[in-house]
Amino acid sequence: MFKCNNFNNILNCYHENKLSHAFLLETNDIEQCYKDVLELVKMINCSGKYSEECEECNLCHLIDLGNIPSLITIDPFGNNIKKEQILDMMERFKSKPIYSKYNTYIIRQCDYFNQHSANTLLKFLEEPEDDIIGFFITNNKMNVISTIRSRCQEWSMYYKEDLGNNYSDESISQFNDYLSNVCGKKDAFIYNQTEFKKLYEDRMDWVRFFTEILYYLTDVSCDQVTLGNNDVLGKMEKRKIIRIISKIEDILKYLKSNGNIELILDKFAIEMRNIYE
Ligand SMILES: [Zn+2]
Repeated sequence: MFKCNNFNNILNCYHENKLSHAFLLETNDIEQCYKDVLELVKMINCSGKYSEECEECNLCHLIDLGNIPSLITIDPFGNNIKKEQILDMMERFKSKPIYSKYNTYIIRQCDYFNQHSANTLLKFLEEPEDDIIGFFITNNKMNVISTIRSRCQEWSMYYKEDLGNNYSDESISQFNDYLSNVCGKKDAFIYNQTEFKKLYEDRMDWVRFFTEILYYLTDVSCDQVTLGNNDVLGKMEKRKIIRIISKIEDILKYLKSNGNIELILDKFAIEMRNIYE
């Protein structure tokens, strides 16, 4: 089981044969995200019937031990991910994986690429081999060098901090109210400024509100909770819900960086409308 449910959506891509070759994962917890990536690597490579602690195959065991040639983890060396680290990985991945289906590299804190190391990696990203997958993990995708970012599929892997797993009926109905009104009604701006402003005057209240929606929709997107009675989201395709999730993350970033709340909410309403239509 993943700690962040959104990994199930990547796993589904694998089952549907739509697995990308490079993933940019933005997260609030790099270590936990790394553990989930390892879990995913086991699931898509396991030769036995993967279960939480697979004892049927040796591969899962080797991954736990961090002792398998087809899996390379790269951390920044000092203040940079160095060109030599990338060259070394590429050299090792010239040979096909033996025990596993894929050669996998995981780069933690991938915002530490410099121009040299990023350029070195480009060939890998531009002419991907079918049996090589890369995961780039960062706290802030905006800091990742654009040559890499633009070639990755972006995902958000957020970990619940002090929120429980259960949403009260009251909060679910509030999320639904808000999202339906912002998505589906023509006067979303006014709605933002009147109805909801009454409820949420404070910036931190908005941060909390959007953080809860973020977790809720992430759970919805991987079928962990049902949508309840929602006239707008209920009919929405999953890929659209995933797009909304990424917009909500942007909103949270703007809110936390002290932007003008009204402008941020209006921007959100516009983007939600675009996704909805
Ligand atoms: Zn296994």
